[in-house]
Amino acid sequence: MLFKKIKGLALPLMLLTILLSGCGPKSSGTIVEGKVNVVTTFYPIYEFAKEIGGEDANTINLLPVGVEPHDWTPRSQDIVNTSKAQLFLYNGAGLEGWVPNFLKGLDSGSKVQAVEVSKGIDYIMTDEEEDHDHGGENGEEASGDSLHTDPHTWVSPKSALIMAENIKNSLVEADPAHKEGYEERYGKVAERLKALDARFESELAKVPNKEIVVSHQAFAYLCRDYGLTQHAIMGLSPDAEPRGQDLVKLAELVKKENIRYIFFEELVSDKLAKTLAAETGVSTMVLNPVEGLTEKDQQNNDNYFTLMEKNLQNLILALK
Ligand SMILES: [Zn+2]
Repeated sequence: MLFKKIKGLALPLMLLTILLSGCGPKSSGTIVEGKVNVVTTFYPIYEFAKEIGGEDANTINLLPVGVEPHDWTPRSQDIVNTSKAQLFLYNGAGLEGWVPNFLKGLDSGSKVQAVEVSKGIDYIMTDEEEDHDHGGENGEEASGDSLHTDPHTWVSPKSALIMAENIKNSLVEADPAHKEGYEERYGKVAERLKALDARFESELAKVPNKEIVVSHQAFAYLCRDYGLTQHAIMGLSPDAEPRGQDLVKLAELVKKENIRYIFFEELVSDKLAKTLAAETGVSTMVLNPVEGLTEKDQQNNDNYFTLMEKNLQNLILALK
């Protein structure tokens, strides 16, 4: 009886927590009746789902433009929309620590299917020790052990291919009547991803230098798949604070390996990348983890493919 009472209280309390944290810019899109409504958590999943879903699906992205996903939590309207949707696509791999509670907070009548789109990728584990928000207090991985899953799967075109296939399969399952359309559009996305993968492979095989220094530890999958090594100023989450001795070690590495550029990204502060570059007398350049679009990216019609192509050009320049 007592247990029942507590259980009855837990859900409203949880909802309240989510509701209270729900301020700031809004997500894109609303539910459209008569279509397969697909709610995605952040940009790359949104782009692939929108491309593959085409005219048969209505895709809503939870993360607003210009916001990076590590610190973000959903708003009350996101619970309302997701409750009415047919599909909820999230990255998994520990990126969205809020997902388990979010799913428990959906309307009891909701028929939404939740799909972890990075499933099937050989996850990279890291012993990165900085405080970060990937697991969240309620995340399943918060079990006290020091290994964390690196969530940045999409930054490698090879992993993105697996994600696109998972997205296609979930659309076909939710809406088998439009299987043909989903398969056809997926075929086009997969072709583009394979072409991008081939370019990364052939171009990065040619560069003589293989060490990159980045601000946020977001490039492990890219490095694994294309033979590079990353050295990060900050941890898995871009707001983790670096330790003083790490900066000293990185400065030594930059000098020893003749590294000419420190990479930074546009959605978070470039202060530490600039400090390290100034201290070692090198320049900075963008390497984009494609966690979201900025307003400027959107105005330029940039997308996963154009941003990854720019990443490749910058890597070639930095490593030649
Ligand atoms: Zn990240």
